[in-house]
Amino acid sequence: MTASVTQISPSSPSSPRPFHHPQPESALHCGKVSLETLAKRHGTPLYVYSADQIVERLAIFQEALAGREHLVCYAVKANSALAILKLLASCGAGFDIVSGGELERVLAVAPEAAGRVVFSGAGKTLAEIDRALTAGILQFNVESEAELEVLAARAAKLKTKARFALRVNPDVFAETHPYISTGLREHKFGIDIRRALGIYKSVAGNRWLEPYGVSVHIGSQIRSAEPFGAAIERVSKLVRQLKREGIALQVVDAGGGLGIDYHAGHFDAAAKVREYAEAVENALEGFEGRLLIEPGRFLVAQAGALVARVLYVKRNGKKTFVITDAAMNDLIRPALYQAHHEIAPVRPRAGRPRIVDVVGPVCESGDFFARDRKLAPIEPGDLVAILDAGAYGMAQSSNYNTRPRPAEVLVEGSKARLIRRRETMADLLWPETFTVEG
Ligand SMILES: *Cc1c(COP(=O)(O)O)cnc(C)c1O
Repeated sequence: MTASVTQISPSSPSSPRPFHHPQPESALHCGKVSLETLAKRHGTPLYVYSADQIVERLAIFQEALAGREHLVCYAVKANSALAILKLLASCGAGFDIVSGGELERVLAVAPEAAGRVVFSGAGKTLAEIDRALTAGILQFNVESEAELEVLAARAAKLKTKARFALRVNPDVFAETHPYISTGLREHKFGIDIRRALGIYKSVAGNRWLEPYGVSVHIGSQIRSAEPFGAAIERVSKLVRQLKREGIALQVVDAGGGLGIDYHAGHFDAAAKVREYAEAVENALEGFEGRLLIEPGRFLVAQAGALVARVLYVKRNGKKTFVITDAAMNDLIRPALYQAHHEIAPVRPRAGRPRIVDVVGPVCESGDFFARDRKLAPIEPGDLVAILDAGAYGMAQSSNYNTRPRPAEVLVEGSKARLIRRRETMADLLWPETFTVEG
């Protein structure tokens, strides 16, 4: 249960979101653009992202790491919109991909960024490995000995050398939702750090494999810098051991996972990143090489909102339900992780706040955005903005209940650009057949 009504103040430097009311009487805006105008033009549900905030967040990381050679590899899975990838590539970002599909997205908009791509994931297929080798990506983050063997075989076949990092599992516990915690030995991710030294040594002479780095990723939505430092300390120890054995790694990849504050009205993103960068840097002790990081959520979550229109307000017994035209197929985080999202009326009404559930039309009781939430009065036809929806929102959307996915708009200064049109029924039916061949 949330006690307070979401307060959206005029934008201030400590405001973690680009959504604000320029005047007390005006509609909620993204930067200089009214969400009311966007909803009228493009319909709802509608994802709206601030390009300006995404660029600003990337710059915060780049500045915090300026003391050493580094590359910020945006985790594509958080939001893989082509326009956002293009934007980040133009600002010098690299990319962390977890599938061949994500590689194709990067190559489609920024072929020149192929050399800034790291490929993570525990189940890379032969075709995906071949494509990444041919494209000349920076580094394969290898998650098992079996995968390393396959990588060597494919590199030999293509007569090229594969730069690899073992993704080690540091056995560090990080406080987050169990579904997005990945740094313990019991998780499927990575290789037990105690076995890594032996594996690097075993492939030391292989002419198709270049031991290039070591990587770690302990989970997602981790709010404290401490577990990152603990993980990198263990990684640093391994790097020093390897150096003594004559294997000099050039890269430490610290993964992603830095969390945001889904609740607060004030959150100092720059201070959080500096604290994180300091913990990582301190733990690197004497390592002279390049630092890679793979933030996803931190770059894009707060830049985005899902704008929905209220269809009905109904009372069942003691409960009041606000039913929106957006649903769990558009944003599944509340259903999947019990995630909290602040919800802001686009044009707040005066009057006493009420305790309501905000839900979608899908036939599942898990189809909710908020439960027992205190909100300003809401009437059918009103617009609401579900905040902090830029990461793992559209990226995890589906067509469940045969619902076309939302359109997406990217706001840059005073300009708003449609970057993905709303799906049509024809898009949804297109791949299927129903005739019976005689
Ligand atoms: C998901 C993932 C990330 C990004 O995580 P965020 O919490 O969005 O920062 C980075 N690296 C790897 C390997 C991942 O699986």
